Amino acid sequence: MALRPAVGFHQDEQAHWVVELDCGHQQHVRHRPPFEERPWVVSETGRRRKLGESFDCPFCDMPEIPPDALAYKRTATFDENTVPGGLLKEHDTKEGVWARIVVESGKLAYTIIEPDRRQWVLSPAASGVAAPTAAHFVKPIGEVRFHVEFFRREADPT
Ligand SMILES: [Zn+2]
Repeated sequence: MALRPAVGFHQDEQAHWVVELDCGHQQHVRHRPPFEERPWVVSETGRRRKLGESFDCPFCDMPEIPPDALAYKRTATFDENTVPGGLLKEHDTKEGVWARIVVESGKLAYTIIEPDRRQWVLSPAASGVAAPTAAHFVKPIGEVRFHVEFFRREADPT
């Protein structure tokens, strides 16, 4: 995981605290005893003290779509009931094809199996990316709406 310094805090629509990191990613920093103990986050001074401190940023480890790849296809929008079974099982994209998993609402667990098993919780603020031929699968966390966009380089003969 990448260690990134905190540059700010805000509350989401459910009043949960979110830390903003200098990489542009963000993550929840909830105080929800006894599950998550972060008493510092509920006070202004506590949060100010954490500015500049480093947090593990799992989204810095997400594969990236090359800037010269173009979107050429997208799926319909799925929800937790209509998600195709194939996406819930281990599968991969074709050679030369990147997939971006875009959550429209709710949350989706996204797991990459290779080269190392990694898992992220995707949300409207955080998309997932599957690199070509990398095995992965998704799993709805409660109610979710999402779709998948496919990218390739124009020159690739796919
Ligand atoms: Zn990051």
